[in-house]
Amino acid sequence: MQAMQQVLRPAGSVDSYPVDVFQVQTKEELICALEHLRRTKKRFIPIGAQRSFGQHFVPVEGAVGLDVSSLERNVEVLEEGEDGSLWVRAGAGIRFIDLRQQFPEHRVLHPPTTDTITLGGAFAACVHNMSGYFASGIRAFELVLPTGEEVFCSAEVEGVGAELFSIVPGAMGALGVVCSFELLLQPVARDTTWHVHSLYAGPVMADEFYRAVESGFESEKFAEGCGAFMYGNRGWGAVVADEQLPLGSPRQGGQAPLTDDKLDQQAFAQGIANRFPRVAEWIVRKSYSMGAKRWAPWYGAQFFQRGYDRAFDVCSRSGLKYGLARAFGVDGRLPIMHQAWFFPREQLRNFMKTYFEVLDQFPDIESRAEQQDLVLLQPCAYPAHSMGQTSFDLAVVTSSFTIPGSARKLRPQIEEFYRRVSAFSLEKVPGTRVSLCKQVHADSHVLKAMHAPWIELIGGWKKRLDPEDLLCSRHLEDLFGSEGVPEQSIVGDDAL
Ligand SMILES: Cc1cc2nc3c(=O)[nH]c(=O)nc-3n(C[C@H](O)[C@H](O)[C@H](O)COP(=O)(O)OP(=O)(O)OC[C@H]3O[C@@H](n4cnc5c(N)ncnc54)[C@H](O)[C@@H]3O)c2cc1C
Repeated sequence: MQAMQQVLRPAGSVDSYPVDVFQVQTKEELICALEHLRRTKKRFIPIGAQRSFGQHFVPVEGAVGLDVSSLERNVEVLEEGEDGSLWVRAGAGIRFIDLRQQFPEHRVLHPPTTDTITLGGAFAACVHNMSGYFASGIRAFELVLPTGEEVFCSAEVEGVGAELFSIVPGAMGALGVVCSFELLLQPVARDTTWHVHSLYAGPVMADEFYRAVESGFESEKFAEGCGAFMYGNRGWGAVVADEQLPLGSPRQGGQAPLTDDKLDQQAFAQGIANRFPRVAEWIVRKSYSMGAKRWAPWYGAQFFQRGYDRAFDVCSRSGLKYGLARAFGVDGRLPIMHQAWFFPREQLRNFMKTYFEVLDQFPDIESRAEQQDLVLLQPCAYPAHSMGQTSFDLAVVTSSFTIPGSARKLRPQIEEFYRRVSAFSLEKVPGTRVSLCKQVHADSHVLKAMHAPWIELIGGWKKRLDPEDLLCSRHLEDLFGSEGVPEQSIVGDDAL
């Protein structure tokens, strides 16, 4: 097998990592590559579309990448329901945009907000949108262990396949390579339209802000999701909620930003907002004043960040507009510091208070705050999700600070801000955990204390499924430590 050198760069990162990468496109090639890696005792990590913000797909020192972004890129219809829904078998290298091209009148449940992510990468991170978890639309998947063994995972089978069915979503590639999924596609008419309602616009720490977030989350009308955008330190915020309209309903208001198909323009706007973060606030303020209503095509609304991936190419173009933008410091890599925290919904006010109290200690970084957003979620069914399996609703706050050009010097302060929010919330906001799906900035003891259940669960399974500890990324190393998985373990009862 021949490895090629590639330079890996997480989304929004200014760091890059030259590594050797093997590419596989079929299950047979995958099994062959795994055999080679075992024989040569090479540690490795699967690589999807490389859209992670953190080091999830970056191999540890001396290890290699296993590029599975083209793995089994085909889709086969397995069953058609009376309501027009489909169960399909889709390869792990399929991206949301590929499904759209093949099934323009169907959609997946709860995908991330950009469509160039692979199904394998989304499942490994147990991603969510504003209304639920992507894994909830998957009824089975094929897992190939580092030993080359294949396991069919489903709630319907006996033994280890049933246990792994619930444990692999969120395992971040630590247990093996998912080869294909049985995935639900729901029917959706091409011209389905959503209304994006602005339920609240004003100061973020006001009672009305929290009431709007909670009522939007609980309303059946807004089953497509509700969330809040917040700017600055205890600044202005908007609570927006998505309503799917019956076919043929009249559209109201103008079109919601970032929901049209002009992806090059969106990408350029992302570059400008990254350089001048107040531009993002200005656009959102203008679009979502209190009570405003805007319309959007369902696909553009669901994948409202799909222009993001083009920013580098668009901002590198020749021409006056692009040249001027670069001269003013626009950086198409959209460099950001980015972190999210999950916590029990009942801790929402407590978390926000703690977050802003820590931000008070860092007055220099406020001007680089691009956006802070908030989403509430139903209880989580997945033990390896960042928050684990819960019987309670969750909240997630995601915070982004942009660091193009001279703002890069603020990186250590922003990192320290994130570390302090993590440390303080461990102390003051019961149940908070740093998201494992974004960049991770937390002192090692804080990260390990928050994620002790994840480390024990995945560490235990890893010992059993990957006895030579071959699977490892820089992200997993942060969790397990360079000495490998810890001694204590929780594993299932059934022998493999
Ligand atoms: C613009 C943008 C918007 C986003 N929006 C959201 C959002 O709304 N909600 C959300 O939750 N996340 C969101 N994300 C995060 C994104 O969904 C995750 O980072 C996702 O894991 C990226 O998948 P990828 O295909 O790029 O895989 P990579 O980044 O290459 O890898 C991600 C992880 O998956 C593992 N992996 C990849 N393929 C496989 C496989 N076949 N088998 C086993 N493990 C595998 C890798 O080892 C790695 O640990 C967003 C990211 C971006 C850049």
